[in-house]
Amino acid sequence: MSKPHAFDTTVGLFETGQRSMMLYLLLWTAAVLLLFAGLQWQDGNWLFAGLEVACSLLLAFSALRVRRMSRITWLIYAYLLPTSAFLLYIIVMPDASKTAFVWLYSIPPLAYLLLGKMRGLLISVPFLMLGFAAYLSQFGWPSNAHQMIDLGNAVLCALAILVFVHLYESRRQEAYAALALQARVDSLTGLANRAHFQQTLQHGLAAAERSGLPQVLVIMDIDHFKRINDQYGHQAGDQALQQVSKCLRERVRLSDSVGRIGGEEFAILLHNTELHAAEPMIQALREQIANTPLQLGEDTLTLSATFGLAQWPADGRSMNELFRKADMRLYRGKQGGRNRLVCDDHSSLSANHTSTSQD
Ligand code: GH3
Ligand code: MG
Ligand code: MG
Repeated sequence: MSKPHAFDTTVGLFETGQRSMMLYLLLWTAAVLLLFAGLQWQDGNWLFAGLEVACSLLLAFSALRVRRMSRITWLIYAYLLPTSAFLLYIIVMPDASKTAFVWLYSIPPLAYLLLGKMRGLLISVPFLMLGFAAYLSQFGWPSNAHQMIDLGNAVLCALAILVFVHLYESRRQEAYAALALQARVDSLTGLANRAHFQQTLQHGLAAAERSGLPQVLVIMDIDHFKRINDQYGHQAGDQALQQVSKCLRERVRLSDSVGRIGGEEFAILLHNTELHAAEPMIQALREQIANTPLQLGEDTLTLSATFGLAQWPADGRSMNELFRKADMRLYRGKQGGRNRLVCDDHSSLSANHTSTSQD
């Protein structure tokens, strides 16, 4: 199967979530700070009021840039760490409210939602422990049952939130991963689906534009596939598709990309490969497909496939140009008798199953 890591949908989904949540948080915090600035102003604390207005403007400015910022994680740390430290401070500051510690409970949900499971845990646990120490330094070690219950409530509630958030985030990550896999894999063959293959191809071509290294696009179509369906049923057709996919996986190098781009149509991108090197590789694949009979109960079926090859950059630089060329050659291969490779537009289709200008 083509390797999907570079365009991991899970990461994409998570990052979109991070950005929209940061936007909301930054705006919300800016608004709260403005409100407090007004109160400080009324109280005659002009320095504090000025500082809060400045912070509020900085947050609002960051909110404007959050969608386009390349390193969103840094912004998250820059927001989360000072905010969490501030929540600790309001527990121990002079004249602190007795219930100020409840704000600490917002740290695990924020840290997990913004940073994921592991980093969320690494941020939440130390801050909750520091919060526990701040609570004790403010209210002292409990000396009677009543105070013990107060402390027990505070600690158990924090633990419950941490455990629930951790479990929720674990499930969410699993669900995202399953969703991302479904979005890029063809369930019948386990190969990349059309959309994912095209994405891989686009990235491969962009990399080739930078490196200048040659690429070969191969389109392959199983011959007379409809007959298998008609004669033996759809399930037999599915088995044939799985068998051909297995041959593809075995023959193609790990560094190359393979996808099922249509019913009985497959595509291969051979990275850093010249046409003359691609040819024997695809010829061997063609032979393996033709020499691996499909066993259907009592019957033994011989499969074959036809291949159209196009080379980057000689046959085109864009995905569409390469697809068009490879498709045209595949069509010529079908017209020329099937079970063959076609690598150019000119030479006649010889009986050795290959058509190239070097023939
Ligand atoms: P050619 O040699 O010219 O390629 O002929 P063909 O019969 O292979 O091509 P055609 O396009 O006529 O038929 C393709 C068939 O593939 C028709 C469609 O029902 C079948 N098909 C498409 N997707 C699937 C699938 O997922 N499973 C099965 N079993 N059949 C499929
Ligand atoms: Mg076919
Ligand atoms: Mg077809």
